Amino acid sequence: MTERIENNLDLRSMYIEELEQIMIQMGEKPFKARQLFDWLHNKRVDSYDEMTNLSRPLREKLSCKYPLVDIKVVEVQESRLDGTRKFLFRLGDGNVIESVWMKYHHGNSICISSQAGCRMGCKFCASAIGGLVRSLHASEMLEQIYKISEVTGEKVSNIVVMGTGEPLDNYENLLRFIRLISDARGMNLSQRNITVSTCGIVPKMYELADEKFQITLALSLHAPDDEKRKELMPVANKYAFKEVLDACRYYFKKTGRRITFEYALVAGKNDSERDARLLSAQIRDINCHVNLIPVNPVRERDYVKSDKNVVVNFKNKLEKYRINVTIRREMGSDIDGACGQLRRKYIDKPEEERKT
Ligand code: SAH
Repeated sequence: MTERIENNLDLRSMYIEELEQIMIQMGEKPFKARQLFDWLHNKRVDSYDEMTNLSRPLREKLSCKYPLVDIKVVEVQESRLDGTRKFLFRLGDGNVIESVWMKYHHGNSICISSQAGCRMGCKFCASAIGGLVRSLHASEMLEQIYKISEVTGEKVSNIVVMGTGEPLDNYENLLRFIRLISDARGMNLSQRNITVSTCGIVPKMYELADEKFQITLALSLHAPDDEKRKELMPVANKYAFKEVLDACRYYFKKTGRRITFEYALVAGKNDSERDARLLSAQIRDINCHVNLIPVNPVRERDYVKSDKNVVVNFKNKLEKYRINVTIRREMGSDIDGACGQLRRKYIDKPEEERKT
């Protein structure tokens, strides 16, 4: 098992300009950086040996100094209901993460993890249970997409950074990831097809807005006021409800991108008519779209999802206030559904039962 690779040695997380500097330091022509970038991000090889247009001595020097980040598929679960596939990956240092591949009418979507574990502690979330292990490199976020495309052989239209982890708690690597995946010389995915979901780390939301990317920002709101939000999400003790919404307004002002609010409906906690009314009053001036998600039951938690008719009523109430709202279609409910559950199941297994 290899050790975790340091950021400054991880070539798949580097911009072409940085690779050019490395090439120059090694006494090579800067254009070699483009060839290297092409191997890493288009041909997506896992070893320097395969980079046949680089000289053998250069390949040897590179492999001594810059170990390649390579993540391996450990397990794939496929839903019989809708073809959703969950991937469990092993990172170079042995940690495991999960990603989800979903087929929609409008194209295929991949949900990736940004961290192994998470330290945000949301009460209903499986990823919070073991805390944060570590943040992922940009290359490890990219590799989830590259490996899944290889296995499925299908085109990727959308990326959502909504798997395990808080992307804005891994801010620098997230920026690298966004720039690299949308680089015209690499995968060239339109930023409009990328969504980053946050629990609401306010200062980073402002920083992200100032980057003026064309990505969609999704904010996990889950409550209509401070009191209820604090019950579900510890981060609400740090940033007030109003501050978070102001950051969303700022994001829209800077980028022109409509905000998505995620709202997990938990029976008896945040799903009453009063909650819907309160929520509407708070967000009606924001150019937004609300995504209602009946909470996914997590083995270790006792939250129960709202009844179907409660969910529909909640939706109708928001619509009465002219708020854009959809109920998220449940995908892959027959496989370890909620975020982080496949990873948790793996971690909880005794060593000898784990697949390697
Ligand atoms: N940390 C980020 C992104 C990861 S979670 C965030 O908080 O937004 C992605 C989304 O799934 C968030 O909206 C999160 O609140 C939600 N989520 C987590 N566990 C869930 C569960 N058991 N049921 C429904 N939604 C859940």
